[in-house]
This record gives sequence, C-alpha cells and structure tokens, in this order.
Amino acid sequence: MSNLPKIAWIGLGIMGSPMSENLIKAGYSVTGFTLEQDKLDRLAAAGGTAAKSIAEAVKDADVIVTMVPASPQVEAIAYGEDGILENAKSGALIIDMSSITPQTSVDLAKAAKDKGIRVLDAPVSGGEAGAIEAVLSIMVGGEQADFDEAKPLLDALGKTIVLCGPHGSGQTVKAANQLIVAVNIQACAEAVVFLEKSGVDLTAALDVLNGGLAGSTVLTRKKDNFLKRDFKPGFRIDLHHKDMGIVTDAARNVGASLPVGAVVAQLVASLRTQGDGGLDHSALLRGVERLSGAEL
Ligand code: NAD
Repeated sequence: MSNLPKIAWIGLGIMGSPMSENLIKAGYSVTGFTLEQDKLDRLAAAGGTAAKSIAEAVKDADVIVTMVPASPQVEAIAYGEDGILENAKSGALIIDMSSITPQTSVDLAKAAKDKGIRVLDAPVSGGEAGAIEAVLSIMVGGEQADFDEAKPLLDALGKTIVLCGPHGSGQTVKAANQLIVAVNIQACAEAVVFLEKSGVDLTAALDVLNGGLAGSTVLTRKKDNFLKRDFKPGFRIDLHHKDMGIVTDAARNVGASLPVGAVVAQLVASLRTQGDGGLDHSALLRGVERLSGAEL
C-alpha cells in the first residue's frame, strides 16, 4: 500500500487530463470526475479510476484537485448537496488549480474552513505543453503548512512552485501572468504581420528575435502557431477573455491603471465576437491581420 495521499481530481480538460496523468505516473492513486465520458475513459486507460459523481470521487480523498474553467464552475463543484464541501472528509485539502477571481478563492477557503476542510488556490502557467511535460509554474495562495503538505504533489506537476501569500494571492499573481502573456502575444502578432508585409523570411526573423531581448517563452511556445496559422487550442481565447476580465477588475479594485492591458482586453473580446473564441490565444494574429487588411 502506498503512503501517498489519495487524490480526487475534478475537471479533466486540456490541462486536467495530462496533469492527473502525471500524478498517476508519480505513484498517486487518482479518482476523477469530469463532464465528458471520453475524458473519464482516458483517465481509466492511464491507470486512474473514473467516478460517476463529485461525491463519489471525493468521499475517500485526502487531497482534492480541481481544474475547471472559471469561478462559476468552481462554485458549482464546491457548493451544494452534491458538491465537494458536503462530501469530502473533514481534514481534506482542496487544491484549486483553476484560474478564477481572487475573491472566489477567498470565499471558498472561508466556507471550507467551517467544514474543517483546507484550501489552497494554485493556478498554473505553462499551457498544455507545460502540463504534459510537468514543468508548470504554480502560484499558490494559502497557509504555509498546507503548502508544505501539497509541495511533493505539486512537484509532480510543475517546476517553479511558489507560495505567494494568503488565500487569493495565487490568483492575483496568475491574473498578472495573463496580462503579461496577452500583451506579449499581441506584440508578437503585430511583429509577424509587420515582418510578412515587409517581405522578410518569417522563420528566420522569429528565430533571431527569440535569441535577443525580444525573445520569450510566448514566442518559443507559439512560434509554430504563428508560422502555420495553427490555432487549435492550447489555451482558448474564451478563457483568456475571462482572465482579462479578472485582471482589469482586480486592478481597478486596487487603483492600478493598466492602459495597454485594457486595449489588449478589448482585442481579445473582439476576437470572440468574430467567432474565434474557441481558438488558441495565438489567434490574436487573426485580429491583427484583419486590422491590416490581410487575407485570412
Ligand atoms: P477545459 O475547458 O479544457 O477543461 C475544463 C474541464 O472542466 C472540462 O473537462 C469539464 O468537463 C470540466 N468541468 C466543468 N464544469 C464541471 C463540473 N460542474 N463538474 C465536473 N467537471 C466540470 O479547460 P482547460 O484549458 O483545461 O482550463 C482549465 C483551467 O486552467 C482554466 O481556469 C484555465 O484558465 C486554466 N489554464 C489553462 C491553460 C491552458 O493552456 N489550457 C493554461 C493555464 C491555466
């Protein structure tokens, strides 16, 4: 019998599937629940156990990891008769890795405490590739003792794992991450259109740019998306739209001004209204192309 904590994993999407599989590879026993049957089948094929409900998944778990799209889904899986708080053991630890509003994390930690359940907010950066390769950056909010307990498990999912402060702090740092990533993608997309219209060899240009000060993880990870116009997600524009809402709202609350972030938030929003919400966020390139009169 393994001494490792028993894991329940709720939300087996683009990120949750490979992340939960990395825990299985590290020797953890994982019972999962998600809305799509094919994802449950994938978990079972990887050596996990597919549950029929949240209640069934969490009832014996020591640690419950959640990875769902946004605040409403976190609230839906946490609260109510069939939710995590009603069905988990007292003393269990919830690690919510979804990107949500800091306030939702603070409220969840408070509600869980009343049931003797502990919570960490632990959103991630690094994308689908980072999830598959177990090299995510994980920004954590919560108590030091809970962080120490979660660290070995998080080590199986990521490389840079930092406790940023009390509940909600992980989400605040993630919001800043999403601001930087969106602005960086937009700048890369503008450079791509400029370079192509100028007749420069784009592959050569992006290679040399990525070796200098303009280089970035965004450019490394998204270069092929730009070159091949491959916008299969990855990270959906719909989710980045949610995150730009979180960061602009949180910034307004603390009196921080984000003029460039606000413009890029509008550009992300406009891609959605043009039907591109399901594409990867590198599809910001399509917006720049439209503005530049390029054929799509
Ligand atoms: P996704 O849409 O691929 O997956 C979400 C999963 O949540 C789905 O499998 C769905 O079944 C499940 N879910 C939703 N409601 C549920 C419910 N009520 N009960 C059980 N399961 C439910 O999303 P994703 O791309 O994996 O993103 C998940 C989170 O991670 C988001 O908050 C996103 O912002 C964040 N994130 C994503 C990436 C990325 O590159 N995709 C990178 C970093 C962070």
